[in-house]
Amino acid sequence: MTVQKIAVIGSGISGLAAVRELGNQFDVTLFEAGSQIGGNAHSETTVTSEGQNLQTNLVIIYNREHYPALMQLFSEMEIPFTSHPHDIPTASIHCEGCGFSYPRPGDTWGAQLPAQPEVTGTVWRQYIDDYHRFLRLVQQGHPTLTANDLIRAKGYSEYFVEHFVVPLLTCLFTYSPAAARKCAVITIFRLLTASRLTPGTPPTEWGSIPGGTSNYIHHLANRAEVLLHTAAEKVIRTTQGIEVHDNTGTVRRFDKAVIAVPADQALALIDKPTPLQREVLGAIPYEYSKWSLHTDTSGIMRTDSLLHHQKMSCTNGDWILSLPHNKLKGITGSEQFISSISGGSKLTHRHSTLSSHTHGLCIQTPQAISAMLNLSSICASDLAFAGAYFRPETTHETAFTSGLNAAKILKEGTR
Ligand SMILES: Cc1cc2nc3c(=O)[nH]c(=O)nc-3n(C[C@H](O)[C@H](O)[C@H](O)COP(=O)(O)OP(=O)(O)OC[C@H]3O[C@@H](n4cnc5c(N)ncnc54)[C@H](O)[C@@H]3O)c2cc1C
Repeated sequence: MTVQKIAVIGSGISGLAAVRELGNQFDVTLFEAGSQIGGNAHSETTVTSEGQNLQTNLVIIYNREHYPALMQLFSEMEIPFTSHPHDIPTASIHCEGCGFSYPRPGDTWGAQLPAQPEVTGTVWRQYIDDYHRFLRLVQQGHPTLTANDLIRAKGYSEYFVEHFVVPLLTCLFTYSPAAARKCAVITIFRLLTASRLTPGTPPTEWGSIPGGTSNYIHHLANRAEVLLHTAAEKVIRTTQGIEVHDNTGTVRRFDKAVIAVPADQALALIDKPTPLQREVLGAIPYEYSKWSLHTDTSGIMRTDSLLHHQKMSCTNGDWILSLPHNKLKGITGSEQFISSISGGSKLTHRHSTLSSHTHGLCIQTPQAISAMLNLSSICASDLAFAGAYFRPETTHETAFTSGLNAAKILKEGTR
């Protein structure tokens, strides 16, 4: 019997999971548009001025409770997973304009409210009222409300939304505030509450892989022929199978394929998409942000929480979101490294930028979340889809399990 040929398009963790599941049984070719594998989890190493090895890629963190498939992978690969003690909050928010700070350095997210910033008693009383109302709404409220709906339909103050709802979402999903405003806020807060990430719930213990994602992504790719710098440009379903046309002008023929790229790019790849593919994939928008790794810890950065959102004023829209690279990667030297994205006009890093990368993230609008419920209906036994966009959590675990599932759908059709 001839071995079937399968194309996996995209080498993020979702594509790599498909390769893992299919590679032992089939002849798998992995297409990657970029210069290295891993997508958002790609890994590069540089040496710091203190002689330490530093991974310049984004930090990917996990927890035992909500990442069971990845934990199993790490255990099978004998990769150590290190949990971080609860000595720092998951997320912190600060506004330079009014001095709002939550949690303050040293606090963890809990039932306590922040100290009153420099706002009037009326504004602050409404903030506290809105905060309690919001926690009740998360339990009972309409799942498709956006931040703007909270203000327009539910009477929440702009101040509360701008100093709690939006920055917390930007921290926990690494969105810009503009993207956070478009999200289905209540659905997301329910998810976050279930993951014990919102205020008032005991924090989950996050952790990372010493040495980073390179410990597993290269092993996962071993089961395929890897084509770097090779972007699929068109995927055509024919009566004989699947054709992949790439940016080198080459046409390769396969029996089946997994498309493991962001939903908007997946839709653009398919030749003559069906109305359902167009409807479902087309309903999931993306935000592409440029992340920088740098050493500017002055003023606007904080290194005592896992993610920190800083507003530069209550109103002008300048903001920065930062992750402390040392803490999350277990780097022990005295030099501090920060990964950040920012928006607005006047933010520049005072110290050198070591690297920068653009990463895509799907925006969980109400339409996107309802489209996610229909994603399984566009997967078939010859062409399946995978990616972090398969569930509203959009985590590394979601991406990994979606790749395993896509592979299983292809395998089912082979029996
Ligand atoms: C800043 C940031 C931080 C994050 N941190 C965490 C975290 O700490 N924990 C967590 O659980 N999740 C985190 N995530 C979520 C993250 O998105 C997932 O963890 C996961 O890595 C996404 O994997 P993916 O396979 O869906 O897509 P991606 O990682 O986006 O991979 C897609 C790949 O497809 C390639 N590609 C695209 N088009 C083509 C084409 N036409 N042909 C060939 N190749 C193509 C791309 O180059 C890329 O390599 C983070 C996301 C971002 C943006």
